[in-house]
Amino acid sequence: MNIAIDGPAGAGKSTIARLTAKELGFVYVDTGAMYRAIALYLLDNKVDIDNEAELKDALNNIHINIVYESGVQHVFLDLVDVSEEIRSEKVGNMASTSSALAPVREKLLDLQRDIAAKNDVIMDGRDIGTNILPDAELKIYLTASVDVRAKRRYDELILKGENPNLEDIKKGIETRDYQDMNRDIAPLKQADDAVYIDSSDMKIAEVVDKIVKLAKNKNQ
Ligand code: C5P
Repeated sequence: MNIAIDGPAGAGKSTIARLTAKELGFVYVDTGAMYRAIALYLLDNKVDIDNEAELKDALNNIHINIVYESGVQHVFLDLVDVSEEIRSEKVGNMASTSSALAPVREKLLDLQRDIAAKNDVIMDGRDIGTNILPDAELKIYLTASVDVRAKRRYDELILKGENPNLEDIKKGIETRDYQDMNRDIAPLKQADDAVYIDSSDMKIAEVVDKIVKLAKNKNQ
């Protein structure tokens, strides 16, 4: 069984997908992490993404490996585990810019479909229900208001000991939403057959519960 969860930045997809996967005994696949790993490489190597040949060369040099340890996804660039490093706002913003490019999306398409073909997965991202897994048995579109999403990111960063600015985070989220929803290839949108969940006023456990119930109903 495949479950697709799509939605804008900071809607809680990762946390909810991870907990739901645990409850159902599924593999959780965080596709955003793959786009972030590519973005990290492009930033570290100062790749000019507007230069087609340079981008193509860079993508040929990027070897992403996804490894699961006790159900937790680790992303490797070659032999280096970059799972932590890719979490910065800088990398997230670059991921949003570079994920609009066709060669970047092509590189990840087969990898994502392959994992879903071999496992019961909960895969989260922006185009999973619409593009990567159009036949997923259950599709969720998970969102929350911009203010709630910005505050959640802010709290996460505070917990990490950083010194974030709420307004900057909100602006960053709005820019990413706009880019992700308005790009030509595989833009973020709700699949026609997706269940819409607004988590603004819901607790994490409530959302997980709802998705687990929906999954169990589909599976009967
Ligand atoms: O979900 P996360 O914030 O980690 O994703 C980072 C960026 O990667 C998103 O803003 C989006 O541009 C891109 N992305 C995508 N398609 C996916 C997953 C992520 O374009 N399936």
